[in-house]
Amino acid sequence: SKDLGRNSFQLYKPAMNARSLERLAMESKFKKALRTNEFKLCFQPQIDAKHQRLTGLEALVRWQSPELGSISPAQFIPLAENLGLIVELDIWVINKACQQIRLWLDEGVPFAKVSINVSALHFSQGNLVLAVQNALHYWHVDPHWVEIEITETSFISSLPEAKKVLTNLKKLGVKIALDDFGTGYSALSYLTQLPIDTVKIDASFIAKVPDEYGNSQIVTAIIALAKSLRLGLVAEGVEKAAQLRFLEQLECYVIQGFYFSKPLYPCEYVRFIAQKKFS
Ligand code: C2E
Ligand code: CA
Ligand code: CA
Ligand code: CA
Repeated sequence: SKDLGRNSFQLYKPAMNARSLERLAMESKFKKALRTNEFKLCFQPQIDAKHQRLTGLEALVRWQSPELGSISPAQFIPLAENLGLIVELDIWVINKACQQIRLWLDEGVPFAKVSINVSALHFSQGNLVLAVQNALHYWHVDPHWVEIEITETSFISSLPEAKKVLTNLKKLGVKIALDDFGTGYSALSYLTQLPIDTVKIDASFIAKVPDEYGNSQIVTAIIALAKSLRLGLVAEGVEKAAQLRFLEQLECYVIQGFYFSKPLYPCEYVRFIAQKKFS
């Protein structure tokens, strides 16, 4: 194939070391995985604990490799970024998520807006707005069903460029969530300079409430800030009742975490929603 031809040039270089051979092997496995549908999407419910309502679903990618077993996105997302393949993976995820929305609509399965993670590199490489627009159009999905999750890393290389991309995404009608808030190179001014709808409080902060005073104060401040700016809030990584109670006291009600549900494959999600615990 064309790819093999290009890579075989490198194979004959005497300086080829084990590391780059390994990288080459992973690259070909990853590309094959994209072609042969070894990636799957699962969906983690976001629950409004006050009204016991489902308010959203975060799409999370999984790689089930026949050769390597189940590989965590924490491992293969950085790999895909290094290999220059992250844009391709993001586009696959965007399309798969829209396909799933179309299925739920057609089958009458109750669901809520779906949040899709995109890599920060997708802001400098590729055309994110076009990818989202194409997928919505292809699957006949109304944009109000879709939210794009970005991280603060997306703004580092160029704030004006990030602003342009986000503004164009908003023009399509999709929502924007700022993921992992407070962990990156945060400048609070981003919150007013960019068209962000929702802030997701990072799980690393939630993990230490209510016991650690400093952490609890940070979470309290993030919630107050988001509320005063009229931004939506999601608390990530909520596992314990004590964490939920702490957040409820601060009137932060939208919860994503194992306390309510782990990420679910579509067949598991159907069972989850059929229990009618959440409307
Ligand atoms: P993230 O966007 O912060 O996603 C949340 C992660 O926390 C997920 O891990 C989820 O399974 C996990 N999680 C949810 N609730 C709990 C909880 O209560 N306790 C604990 N300990 N963990 C919880 P996952 O699925 O392994 O994803 C890891 C990261 O990989 C994501 O972090 C995201 O940065 C990236 N990622 C996942 N899917 C995609 C994707 O489709 N595209 C891109 N570009 N990145 C993705
Ligand atoms: Ca996320
Ligand atoms: Ca997150
Ligand atoms: Ca994260």
